[in-house]
Amino acid sequence: MAGAPQADCLFCKIVKKEVPATVVRETATTLAFRDINPQAPTHILVIPKSHHPDAAALAAAEPETAADLLREAGQVAVDEKISDTGYRIVLNTGSGAGQTVFHAHAHVLGGRGLNWPPG
Ligand code: 5GP
Repeated sequence: MAGAPQADCLFCKIVKKEVPATVVRETATTLAFRDINPQAPTHILVIPKSHHPDAAALAAAEPETAADLLREAGQVAVDEKISDTGYRIVLNTGSGAGQTVFHAHAHVLGGRGLNWPPG
């Protein structure tokens, strides 16, 4: 069933607290926690609690949760005090674009200069 937890999914395990994470925000539909391998002074992952393989699949199946995800990403940026200087929300989609965990997630990156275009 779309959105159901997957036994072999790392982020589903973080949602179920089977794998520890440094959680910074939680709502009924989303969880935000620090990336284990930060690429910027602030690097937080915002995920839906439901399992979808990427952000596009999430938006197709649960548009309200996709909106929650973006709203939470913005709130994380405010909480982390990176909203004034600028920050980036990244949705890697597909292994060719660097996606390694196939549970939808938004990276929130900030606290340093961010180049464009990204690598
Ligand atoms: P992706 O490459 O799929 O866009 O992003 C996956 C992210 O998950 C990576 O930035 C990676 O560092 C992070 N990550 C992988 N395993 C863990 C983990 O066990 N805990 C946390 N907090 N982050 C993880």
